[in-house]
Amino acid sequence: MIVDVLPDLSPSTPVPRRPYESDGRREEAFAEPDESAMEQSSFEAPTEPSYKIHDEGTNKGLHKLTDGLGYCFSKKAISKSTYTWRCTSRPSANPCKAIVKQKKNPLVDCLLNYNNADFTFVPHDHENPHNHPADFGNQQRVEIFREAKKACVEHKFTDPREILFGELKKRKSLEGRDMPDVDLATRRLRYKRAKVMPANPRKDDPFFPVEENFFPPDWYQGAIFAGTAEDRAWHLLFFTPTMKRQLEDCKTWFMDATFYFVDEPIKQVCLITLVLQ
Ligand SMILES: [Zn+2]
Repeated sequence: MIVDVLPDLSPSTPVPRRPYESDGRREEAFAEPDESAMEQSSFEAPTEPSYKIHDEGTNKGLHKLTDGLGYCFSKKAISKSTYTWRCTSRPSANPCKAIVKQKKNPLVDCLLNYNNADFTFVPHDHENPHNHPADFGNQQRVEIFREAKKACVEHKFTDPREILFGELKKRKSLEGRDMPDVDLATRRLRYKRAKVMPANPRKDDPFFPVEENFFPPDWYQGAIFAGTAEDRAWHLLFFTPTMKRQLEDCKTWFMDATFYFVDEPIKQVCLITLVLQ
C-alpha cells in the first residue's frame, strides 16, 4: 500500500522518515545468490556491428569509424567505389590488419550519408577478427573527446577536467565501463589546449609580445616601464577594475614578490594583497 505510506511528495513537503517496523522489506532474510550468478557480468558484449563515422575523431582531427563492438578505424584509402578504413591498433611490431570496406554512393558524401549495409568487415586473419582486445565504449568516448577538445579550445579559461565532467554529465546513459580514464583524458585535453595557446616568450626577449587575447577580459592593464633608456625593465599590470577599487579603499597593502615559479625572461611576480574589512 504505497499510497498509504507516501504522503504528498511535492518538493516543499518534507518526507517523514518511515518507522522501522513498517518497512517490511527488511524483515526478509537475504537469499544466498547462486555461485554462477555471482560471476556473471551484467555486461553483454554486442555481437552485431553498428557503424558510426565521427568527424574530427582522431588526434589529428580526421574522420574516425567505430563499429560499436569496441574497435576504431581510420582512413586508409579511397577509390571510386570504396572507402577503406584500417584498424587504429597499429603497434609497429604487430599491427592489426583488420579493415572495413565502405561502399560509396557516388551521389552523396559517404562520410555523412551511410548505413550499416555499406560496410564489410575484413578480419585480421582467419582465426581472429582483431589481434587485440576490444575497447568497449569507444563509440561514446570518441564523441566525448571530440566535444571536450572543442570546448577546451573555445573556453580557454575553464579547467579541462571541468570540461570533461561537463561532457560526461550530458550523457546520462553512459555506463561506468564506458567512462574514459579521467586523468589520462585530462592530460590529452591539456595537451590539445597547449597546442592552441601562444608559445612561451623567448628567454632572451624581455620585451616579448603580450598576447592579450589569452588573458581573461578586464585583467591585463598594460605595461609600465622602469629604468633608463639603456637599462630598462617593464612591469605588466594585472587587475580587474573591482580589484583596483578595493585597493583604493584599503589603507594597508601587503606586497610580496615570488621568484621561484617564473621562468626567464620573467624575473618575478609581485603580488599586492589586502584585507577587506
Ligand atoms: Zn584491430
